[in-house]
Order: sequence, then structure tokens, then C-alpha cells
Amino acid sequence: MIHDPIPYGRQSIDQTDIDAVVETLKTDFLTQGPKIKEFEELFAKYVGAQYAVAVNNATAGLHLSVLALNFKKGQRVITTPITFVASANCIRYCGGEVWFADIDRESYLLSLESTRALIESKPKGFFAGIIPVDFAGLPVNTEEFRALANEHGLWIIEDACHAPGGYFVDSNGEQQKCGSANYSDICVFSFHPVKHIACGEGGMLTTNSKEIYDTLMLLRSHGITKNNMSENHGGWFYEMQALGFNYRLTDIQCALGISQLAKNDKGLERRNLIAKRYENAFEGKIRFQSLPEKTYNAHHLFVIEIDNRKGLYDFLRASEIFAQIHYIPVHTLPYYQDIGYGEADLANSEGYYSKCISLPMYPTLTDEEQNYVIDKVLTFNEKNI
Ligand SMILES: *Cc1c(COP(=O)(O)O)cnc(C)c1O
Repeated sequence: MIHDPIPYGRQSIDQTDIDAVVETLKTDFLTQGPKIKEFEELFAKYVGAQYAVAVNNATAGLHLSVLALNFKKGQRVITTPITFVASANCIRYCGGEVWFADIDRESYLLSLESTRALIESKPKGFFAGIIPVDFAGLPVNTEEFRALANEHGLWIIEDACHAPGGYFVDSNGEQQKCGSANYSDICVFSFHPVKHIACGEGGMLTTNSKEIYDTLMLLRSHGITKNNMSENHGGWFYEMQALGFNYRLTDIQCALGISQLAKNDKGLERRNLIAKRYENAFEGKIRFQSLPEKTYNAHHLFVIEIDNRKGLYDFLRASEIFAQIHYIPVHTLPYYQDIGYGEADLANSEGYYSKCISLPMYPTLTDEEQNYVIDKVLTFNEKNI
């Protein structure tokens, strides 16, 4: 069969996206204009949060989030090893210590039990916060993490980069979208093209705290403000009240984001259909990420586990199918090894990593292409049991 290479993920850009960007290019504002506020308001509404702050990427957003929670040098934060490095690096940017708790072997998410065990193995006040990740698009049950965090006075930053539109149903029977921030202090999204909503680069923070929102807004733009100033010399006057950054998103990117956001639900429907087709094909033969009840997976990824993972990876590549591995456990990367994570005992994460592989998952993947992928995976699996 002759076909174009099939990647594991791909953005969907159509004419309405292109028109939206071109329109913005013709206006007075390429950056710091009205599209930013519009995107923020639409995004906040979409996830059910009160406030949203657009940033230039999720990594910058994670950095700002940690700072906005009054982080002090040397504080310790728990996250999962099965994530993109940025979820952990944000703590290092602020001079803190990253502690890894293990994943749940079925859902691949940060395990509530191992997080609890880690917290309870240390004196009170040892940890400052938790950064759970909605890995692959599967929402973390943040209600449960909130209860644990409250017992110990911890904050929660939800890394929701994989999950705009995903939700779980809480104990009150209410749908909690990733990013609602009802149980997290701040939630972080990415608009890198491999994620659901593509802005080129980009990110969004959501929160329900006015105080956190104000701090994020201040730090996003150099710490400079014209609000709540201690003095005012005239119309030109501003104050720099904190050491901030330039972590702004442009109006051009926000115009694209607005257009992409409008199509996200449709993309999720398609992603869930693709997942169903993989599940039907693999059921009883190949292990894949489990879906807890009353959860809607945003399916950034579709991960399977296979003993001869390298064999399958190479076999798929030879067929022009570019599967990917998510992720190399963060604590095993040279930077983290060098600062002392060599002894970390994270058996579930390492066991998962030895077998995981992410298959193509994106809305424009055709049934025909997916059948081809499924056929190759099953063929390999039968030969290599
Ligand atoms: C992509 C990603 C990030 C970083 O996003 P950028 O916008 O590229 O900075 C952080 N965390 C997770 C889980 C991600 O997948």
C-alpha cells in the first residue's frame, strides 16, 4: 500500500483558521490587542473557569504558575515521571526540589496512593504542592487530589496540556472539565501543534482566584502595571511592581487559537471514535490505557503496551508509521540523574516505559490509514508473542 507517512499527531488547519490569521494581520494590533482578551474569555468559558491568562507557551505558563503560588526557594513539589519534562522543570526554574511519586499501572496517571504514601512518609510541611498531569488526555480526578492536598496544606497545579475538553464526573455528579480549576489552584494548557489546539506556540492558564489571576497578569508582562499604583505622575506612568517576564501570546496567535478552539469538540469526537476503533481491534490482545468510569478522555494520545516495544517501533517506521514514545521517565534523564535521582524507586513508571508506544491519533487520521496501522500492529503482535 502506498500512502503518505502517518505521524502520531498532526494539527488540523483549515481555511477559516487561515482567514482568521489574515484578518488579524490587517488590523492595528499584531500583539497586545483585543484578540488576547477574546481568546481568554472564550477559553475560560469553554473549560468552566472564571479567569484565563494566555501565555507564549505552556512551559512559560508553568513557570508563572509556580511563581504565582508564592513559591520559596528550596520548597518541594510532587509530580509524575511520566510527563513532558516541563511539568518538573518549572520547579527547578524556581530553585525548588522535584519529588516523583509513581504512576497507577492501569490509568498511567500519577497515583493518588503513591502520592499519599510519599507525603505521609515525611514530616508535616515537607511538601508545598502537587503537579498532576492529565496524561494522554485522561483527566486526573482532581477532587481526590484536592482532598489529599487540603489535609496537608498543598497547592495543585494541574498540567492539562493533553486534555482541553476532557472531563470527569465528581462526587456531586457534576462534570468537571480539565481546566475548570474547581479543585486545582491553576491549570495549564499548551497550544503547540501536536496538542489539540494549535497556535504555533502558545499556552493558557486558568484559575478561579482573582488574586492568582492578578499575579499571573502582572508577571506575564514584566511585572509592569497601570493598576493599583502607589503614585501616578500622569497618563504615561506605570509601575514595575514585581520581577516579571515577557511571556505574552500575540494577537495573531490568539486569532488562530479562537478559530481552533471552536473546532475542539468536533476534534474530540473524532479522537474518541478513533480510540474506540483501536480498542475494538486490540481488546483481549494488546494492553492499552484504561478509562475510569464517568470520564471523557480528550485523547491527545493513544498508548498501547507491547513487550518488544523497540521491535514494534522499528517495524512501524519501516511501514512509514511514525509512532512515538511518551515518555522517557523524567527522573531517568541525564539532568535529573546528575542531581541525584539515580536511586529513585519508581517501578510502575519504569515498567510502563519499557512497553509503551503511542499510535497515530489525530482528527484527520482516516479510517483507511487507521486500518493500516491496526493491521501492522496486529501482524507484529502475532509474530512476536
Ligand atoms: C507539551 C507539554 C508541555 C509544554 O508545552 P509547551 O507549550 O510546548 O511549552 C508541558 N506539559 C505537558 C504534559 C506537555 O505535553
